[in-house]
Amino acid sequence: MQELSFFDSHCHLQDKRYKGAVDGVLERGRNAGVRALSCCGTNENDWQAVAELAKTCTSVVPSFGLHPWFVADRSGQWLDILEKFLVENPMSCCGEIGMDHACDPSTFGAQESVFMDQLSLAARLGRPVTLHCRKAFGRLLELLDRKGGVGQGGLVHSYSGPPDLVGQLEQFGLSISFSGSLTFPNSKRAQASAAIVSQDRLLVETDSPDIRPYLCAAELNEPSNILAVAGALSRTVGVSVADVAALTWENSSRIFLKVR
Ligand SMILES: [Zn+2]
Repeated sequence: MQELSFFDSHCHLQDKRYKGAVDGVLERGRNAGVRALSCCGTNENDWQAVAELAKTCTSVVPSFGLHPWFVADRSGQWLDILEKFLVENPMSCCGEIGMDHACDPSTFGAQESVFMDQLSLAARLGRPVTLHCRKAFGRLLELLDRKGGVGQGGLVHSYSGPPDLVGQLEQFGLSISFSGSLTFPNSKRAQASAAIVSQDRLLVETDSPDIRPYLCAAELNEPSNILAVAGALSRTVGVSVADVAALTWENSSRIFLKVR
């Protein structure tokens, strides 16, 4: 059988829950065909760990960003520090960044200014972006419109928004990534969205160590479970798992491996 190659478009290998276990996680991922991973930092305290992982493991593409959950804890120098990490890691992307309206509303203002600052920085450095969005798609689209989209490309990770926003997100230059959420029988909205995403904008991810696929008994999710996500996408889109692997690999490579 032809060997499959997967690109896990969004994960967090630096997560403390993997302490001492990352080598095994990566090896099981390799055995499942995961040849590249986008490892996303989330706040000033984990960017160094992401940079170190990328130095020791060539399959890890580093990404640095301030996640909306952590805006309240940022230091006065956060944006300078972020720029330093992006510049020192020329292959890196900007993420995980975005908007989350399931959080404390008192953070919404800071979320927006932090998000806009990071979109500007990514555009100035020519880096793709990885976006998180929960219950805030309307506002996200307004902010992207204000920026004129993301010329350098990027993705919305673990897409959970309505299908009718897919076209607008694509027009802003974004690809749409699906996670283990798609494997649940009741994930009707994600399935409806996946079915209409342009094939050259479809991505797969695990969001490890979170979002375990349906019926996964392990305590932590990991990149080897990309097979479950690809299987769900294959059933939803109506193409073989091999074709899902090939086209999502191609789509991810276009975003992540073009970084100068
Ligand atoms: Zn994430």
